[in-house]
Amino acid sequence: MAQRTFSIVKPDAVRKGYTGAILAEIDKAGFQIVSLKKQHISVAQAQGFYAVHKERPFFNDLCAFMASGPLVLMVLEKDNAILDLRKLMGATNPANAEEGTIRKKFAGSIQENAIHGSDAEETAAFEIGYWFAGYELL
Ligand code: ATP
Ligand code: MG
Repeated sequence: MAQRTFSIVKPDAVRKGYTGAILAEIDKAGFQIVSLKKQHISVAQAQGFYAVHKERPFFNDLCAFMASGPLVLMVLEKDNAILDLRKLMGATNPANAEEGTIRKKFAGSIQENAIHGSDAEETAAFEIGYWFAGYELL
């Protein structure tokens, strides 16, 4: 059954001009774009989004990075969207990412790793609601 997930083209990838190439990978993998917007978020918005990581040593750096330039927020849909996007993204650290994955191709480091994807149904629901209003998801 069709499932929705939430994704971000992170500021490193936008800065390097990879947005179109990453969207092409997502399209080729069979995802429909339900909604998409480019935005320059604040540190406070990043902190709310990544609140689950607030005790991690990299939290402040991560939030500063996410607010360092424009990013692209997306809601994607396909069968098995959540797991399939995680597979397409590859490992968090690009050094461990499999050949052919988005992070293998476009990520620069464990922090500046090009793309975000929700990791479970509950987090997808939270993340979609955090960034998109109902009227943007028709
Ligand atoms: P995301 O949640 O962005 O899809 P992920 O689920 O693969 O990535 P998480 O463990 O949720 O990884 O970490 C969230 C983000 O925090 C990572 O994508 C990365 O940008 C950053 N991050 C994770 N681990 C580290 C680390 N050890 N050092 C620096 N940044 C990190
Ligand atoms: Mg995560």
